[in-house]
Amino acid sequence: MSEKLPTGRPEIEVRDLHKSFGDNKVLRGIDLAIGQGEVVCVIGPSGSGKSTLLRCVNLLEEPTKGQVFVGGTELTDPDVDIDAVRRRIGMVFQQFNLFPHLTVTANLTLPQRRVLGRGKAEAAKVAAENLERVGLSEKADAYPASLSGGQQQRVAIARSLSMGPEVMLFDEPTSALDPELVGDVLAVMRMLANEGMTMMVVTHEMTFAREVADRVVFMDGGVIVEDGTPSQVITNPSHDRTRHFLSRLL
Ligand code: ADP
Ligand code: MG
Repeated sequence: MSEKLPTGRPEIEVRDLHKSFGDNKVLRGIDLAIGQGEVVCVIGPSGSGKSTLLRCVNLLEEPTKGQVFVGGTELTDPDVDIDAVRRRIGMVFQQFNLFPHLTVTANLTLPQRRVLGRGKAEAAKVAAENLERVGLSEKADAYPASLSGGQQQRVAIARSLSMGPEVMLFDEPTSALDPELVGDVLAVMRMLANEGMTMMVVTHEMTFAREVADRVVFMDGGVIVEDGTPSQVITNPSHDRTRHFLSRLL
């Protein structure tokens, strides 16, 4: 675990965030600031609003109330160019969502060309660099179906990195994987953390949270119940709700 001194403005900031679906108040006032290079793991029971929070951070969901800032830009400002801001935010989901009819390389080059307007050669170069980072250079010409779930998820991470994001959001990236494949994906995420990537990670992997996160946030019922270092939140939780949640996991 690395200790980080607070810098100027946070890289990700959420202020009094509320999100309702009809009468269902899913987020009930979330305040969270994540510094540059900080890794924050978000834990909590199913239905507590973790995915909704992550999706509000890149405006895949529109907040009902409150503000979201990434890199100092307010995403919730109605005048903001949301596509431009979203390009600075990488997101990795439980389901990898690779294009099945495209090779691994094409999965990495297509969004670079379509969204960033990069030329063929540059996109291919960036794709190759990022496949190497996730240890899958030899799969460049393979199709997704021929890869293991863990390899597909590493391709999905490489695809996201190829867009040059400033922050990375992960929503239970290892939950759909067979247990023996989880480690390789977590190793890639650990590498990104060590390289100084700002990361927000929803996960049930408590060992990863304990070893890699600078902070752990425990959510329940649409609010943040606890926010502290891994040892504060995981080892010595101060709330019964956190203790109860952890006792069922460990
Ligand atoms: P978590 O990721 O912690 O399991 P979610 O953020 O996925 O929780 O969901 C929290 C609540 O929000 C759940 O009650 C879920 O049914 C509801 N919800 C999430 N997305 C939608 C949606 N698009 N439409 C309606 N309800 C939703
Ligand atoms: Mg979820």
